[in-house]
Amino acid sequence: MPKLIDLHLHTSRCGHAEGRLEDYALEAERGNLAGIGFSDHFPLLHTRDADLSMSMEELPSYVREVVELREAFPGLWVGLGIEVDYLPETAGRLEDLLNLFPFDYIIGSVHFIDGWGFDDPRYVSEYSGRDLFTLWERYFELLGDAAESGLFDLLAHPDLIKKFGFRPREDVTHLYENCLDRVAAAGIALEVSTAGLRKPVGEIYPSEDFLRMCRERDIEVTLGSDAHRPEEVGYRFGEALALLRKVGYQEVVVFESRERFPLSL
Ligand code: ZN
Ligand code: FE
Ligand code: FE
Ligand code: ZN
Repeated sequence: MPKLIDLHLHTSRCGHAEGRLEDYALEAERGNLAGIGFSDHFPLLHTRDADLSMSMEELPSYVREVVELREAFPGLWVGLGIEVDYLPETAGRLEDLLNLFPFDYIIGSVHFIDGWGFDDPRYVSEYSGRDLFTLWERYFELLGDAAESGLFDLLAHPDLIKKFGFRPREDVTHLYENCLDRVAAAGIALEVSTAGLRKPVGEIYPSEDFLRMCRERDIEVTLGSDAHRPEEVGYRFGEALALLRKVGYQEVVVFESRERFPLSL
């Protein structure tokens, strides 16, 4: 297995992850990774929820801790990233805030559809009575909007809307196609995330057919576990690697100072 980099790790600052940063780094060394990148949740701008993200006041300490970790583990590549929620109503305020910190990369995520945290287990009952096709349509429209916003280097867990296993009966191929045409035109990368393997849906984000459409459009991809505890660093990367190779990917990308570098698979 090639030495890989996990670009999507959280820290206890977000209120729903655990472990010390050192433990994530030690776990990466144990798992023979070439590097890790932290991408904790950026403070939400539309609401304050201590169970979802750190506060704005904590951001400088988060940045400092990641930079210190880099110094403490010279043999390990340590990236400074951040995972930012995309909501149309707050997107305009993000750029100035993000520019305050020396991030290596900025991950955009769609976790909210018209105010509803659709991937939050606390609000899963909201699915009942919803038209799933309309929901999926709205999700992939927002993902395309996020790609076009120009704020992000990559988008996380691209088909997160499948998390709880609720799928529309209709064919969703053209939703994927429309979204991925926009992603390709925007030139943004997408994440292959093993987090879905730990969720009710039990499969990698994105699905194989979705990833094939990415490959056809030459969309570059990153690799992430979305670890919320040290043991999840590099979670089931062997399966992600197999899927990537199966659909024809020979490399993934990583970022330093918002610039892309390829990593051979
Ligand atoms: Zn999280
Ligand atoms: Fe996320
Ligand atoms: Fe995450
Ligand atoms: Zn995430």
